[in-house]
Amino acid sequence: MKYAIFGDIHANLEALHTVLEDAATRGCDQYVCLGDVVGYNANPRECLEIVRGLDCPVVKGNHDEEACLNTSLECLNPLAAHALKWTRDALEQSDRDWLSALKLVRQVRDFTIVHATLDTPGGWGYVTNKFDAMASFSYQFTSLCFHGHTHTPRFYVKHGSVEALAVDEIHLETGKKYFINAGSVGQPRDGDWRASYAVYDVDNQSVAIHRLEYDIETTQQKIRDAGLPEMLATRLAAGK
Ligand code: ZN
Repeated sequence: MKYAIFGDIHANLEALHTVLEDAATRGCDQYVCLGDVVGYNANPRECLEIVRGLDCPVVKGNHDEEACLNTSLECLNPLAAHALKWTRDALEQSDRDWLSALKLVRQVRDFTIVHATLDTPGGWGYVTNKFDAMASFSYQFTSLCFHGHTHTPRFYVKHGSVEALAVDEIHLETGKKYFINAGSVGQPRDGDWRASYAVYDVDNQSVAIHRLEYDIETTQQKIRDAGLPEMLATRLAAGK
């Protein structure tokens, strides 16, 4: 059994298609979504429809939450406010209902999924180092947990102390705990523009990160055609 574990799609339809095709090629028969289906890019409804169609476990991301609220945009910087208003206007009530109903933390088989952190899942803190990871590990009751939110793939391993590993693949060992960031499908920020997701191979007890080139020019053109900020198109190519 193989799980394709993906998140931070951020309305990037081309990247999502590419990831799902790759997952099928690798023999993944289960899907898990780590949240932030919408926000930033130009195909929120199309991405929502695909994720809903997979009928898989999904947790809520901060952009999924924001997109459903009617809060004022005044406190945000003008770029973020513009993009968020665009996303809110693009969604239908049925999309908002579906996003609003998502849980912050879920257990799937023998592992946990969360968008940001297990210590304050609705506080949307960022795990960027082993100290942040330690706080999350205190609330992790399965040996394996997947998360996203930083848009940077990373393996945090707890065996007494905590280590942060920027590797492509890891073999799971009993007695250790793993908090694994699958990276971002639709807006990677680790300097590598390629879409990122994880494959959890249950039989082999391994987790691998895969990076995939996709049709970024189309995604960028859609951002421009939608009148979204140009910066959202240029950052995609820079991977940040
Ligand atoms: Zn995100």
